[in-house]
Amino acid sequence: MKVRFSASAASWEEWAPALRAADSDLSLHQDGDPASFDAIIYAPNGDITDFTPYVNVRLIQSLWAGVEKIVTNKTLTQPLARMVDPGLAQGMAEYCTGWTMRAHLGMDGYAQDGTWRNSTVPPLASERPVTILGVGELGRATAAMLSAVGFPVTGVSASGRPVDGIDVRSLAQLDDVLTSSQILICLLPDTPQTRNLLDARRLALLPQGAWVINPGRGTLIDDEALLTGLESGRPAHAVLDVFRTEPLPKDHPFWGHPAITVTPHIAADTRAQTAAKVAVENISRAMNGQPVRNLVDRNKGY
Ligand code: NAP
Repeated sequence: MKVRFSASAASWEEWAPALRAADSDLSLHQDGDPASFDAIIYAPNGDITDFTPYVNVRLIQSLWAGVEKIVTNKTLTQPLARMVDPGLAQGMAEYCTGWTMRAHLGMDGYAQDGTWRNSTVPPLASERPVTILGVGELGRATAAMLSAVGFPVTGVSASGRPVDGIDVRSLAQLDDVLTSSQILICLLPDTPQTRNLLDARRLALLPQGAWVINPGRGTLIDDEALLTGLESGRPAHAVLDVFRTEPLPKDHPFWGHPAITVTPHIAADTRAQTAAKVAVENISRAMNGQPVRNLVDRNKGY
C-alpha cells in the first residue's frame, strides 16, 4: 500500500520508522502524485488542505482523536477515521486521575508556613462523586481508572449508552447530574452541540467547592462564565488543558489566576510506538474491504 504522510514536518522522524516497523511492505511518502496514493495519514498541521486530487484514497487516518479541524474541510469526502489508541487512552486516564487526586486530597490546602492544619479529614474516594462528561474511548478509560481507586463515577453522553461499571446518563439529565458532581471531568469533542455546554447557568448548578478538569476542548466551557463562577466557588478550581486559542495568549486572564491551573495541551499525546500499529492496521482493513475502525460520523462531527 502506498501511503501519503501529511502531519507536521517535525513529526516525520518519529512516525516514519514506527509506521514502517508496523508494516515492512508499507510504501510511505511525504509527497508525490496524489492519484497514486491508497491512503493518507493525516494531522491538521500537515501540508494537505485540498483532498480533491487524492481520487484513489480509500482511507484518511487521523493521528489525532479530536477531528473538529478536519470535518469542516469540504474537500475531504473520502472515509475518515479518528485516532483511538491504547497509549492515548492510558495517558488521558493518568492525567485525569492525577488531577482528580490533587482535588480529592486537598493537596493545595497544605503549606510550609508553620501552621498545623489538621482540622479537616478528607473524605475517602468512595465518598467523592466524580462525573465524566463524555464517556467515549477516553472517558471510559478514565472511568475505569477512577473506579479502580474507589470513586463513584457517573458518565454523561449524548446517547446515555450503558458503559460497564459506571452509571451513565444522557445529555437530557446533565443538569441533574451536575448538582452532585464534586469533580467534573470534561472529555467531549468540539461540535456545534458541545460549544459552551458548561455555561453560567450550568456551572451554578455545581456543588460549592467543586473542581472542573477540562482536557476535552476549550470551547466546552464559557470562559467568562468560568471566571465569574470561580468567584463564588462554583467551581472552586479549574484545571484546564485546552483553550479556544492555543497557545493560550500571554495576557489571558487564566494565566496566573489563583483558582486556575493551566496545562499546555499535554493531557494525552498520540504516541507513535502504540498508534503506528493502529493506523497501519486500519489502512490494511480499508484496502482489504474490511470494515474500517473508528470512522468519523460527519453529521455528528466526531
Ligand atoms: P469519542 O470516543 O468520540 O467520545 C466522545 C463522547 O462524547 C461520547 O461519549 C459521546 O456520546 C459524547 N458526546 C458527544 N457529543 C455530546 C453532547 N452534545 N452531549 C453529551 N455527550 C456528547 O471521543 P474520545 O476519543 O473519548 O475523545 C474525546 C475528546 O478528547 C476528543 O474529541 C478531543 O477533543 C479530546 N482530546 C484531548 C486530548 C488532550 O491532550 N487534551 C487528547 C486527545 C483527545 P455518545 O457515546 O453517545 O456518542
